[in-house]
Amino acid sequence: MKRIRRAAAFAAALLLLFTGAAAEGTEPAAPAAQAQAQSAGGNLRKGSKGDEVTRLQERLQELGYLESKPDGIFGNDTVNAVKAFQRRNGLSADGQAGPLTQEKLYAEDAVAAPETILTDTLDGELPMLVNKKNMVDEYFQPADLVLLTEVLDTKLCKVKYKDTKLVREAAEALEKMLEAAQADGVKKWQVSAGYRTWEEQNGMLNTKTENYLKKHKDWSRRKARNAALKTVAEPGASEHHLGLAVDINVPGASAFKGTKQQKWLHKHCWEYGFIVRYTADKEKITGFAAEEWHIRYVGVEHAQKIRELGLCLEEYIEWMETGYMKSSETEITEINLDEEETPGEQAS
Ligand SMILES: [Zn+2]
Repeated sequence: MKRIRRAAAFAAALLLLFTGAAAEGTEPAAPAAQAQAQSAGGNLRKGSKGDEVTRLQERLQELGYLESKPDGIFGNDTVNAVKAFQRRNGLSADGQAGPLTQEKLYAEDAVAAPETILTDTLDGELPMLVNKKNMVDEYFQPADLVLLTEVLDTKLCKVKYKDTKLVREAAEALEKMLEAAQADGVKKWQVSAGYRTWEEQNGMLNTKTENYLKKHKDWSRRKARNAALKTVAEPGASEHHLGLAVDINVPGASAFKGTKQQKWLHKHCWEYGFIVRYTADKEKITGFAAEEWHIRYVGVEHAQKIRELGLCLEEYIEWMETGYMKSSETEITEINLDEEETPGEQAS
């Protein structure tokens, strides 16, 4: 079970909801002497089954890397838990429990997972900024996440992936906005992304890297990763980690740009507290190429001001904090090469 700590002020009731079952203040799991005696199993990997896998899962859980119940089946949860353990313990993160990983896992000095920090991402005077210069870590987690399918009426919008989550307030604003669009006769919407964990972003980057390696046999891993970083944000730098960003498009359409839905969204999203986060004229400041499909919830007041002032979020925050703006440019590495193929599913 992940140990959870809160970062920002938040309603006590929710605190209970999120930490009720978690052992707040638990010390890093002390490895039992017997744990060492259990090591030296074979090479366990995805698809492995049996008691050895159960023991592995129990140990991963004890150290705070695995949340799901040990079931003796080495599935995706276990792969991710092993990877997180490996990263934290200076091992190469391949998601397999070979002799080296198992030795470290059952050792007394095995490093436990740090506490997941639940953060109220809507707390504070100004919107929270996540970009290439302001990254969140692996254990960052927004408070008050809800499943979109539980908030959004399916008549308003298709939710492409059923497990898509958003912070409740953003999800409710999204529903209000889509109701208004519907009333204006603009129908057929799809949400293709909401909250994304560090691990998921890391997985996207790895998949893209692997694809490049398959396509270009002579490329080094570093070269492939750099190429992948042109269309997939580095884990920690994606605004989707906040649970306040939504990728929105038209189901089945090859591109979002130029559709009546896109035009309606860019005209009205501000009224519901969303901003169009990455625009062509601000690429050098945001560090991301324009993304017509990516909107970010900041609340109505900020959204309206941002629109009136014609600023991107980076500029707005600087303006609000200091009263002036020095132009701070970020190198743009994002190029949406495959926008036409998969609108709204890459990059940020
Ligand atoms: Zn996005």
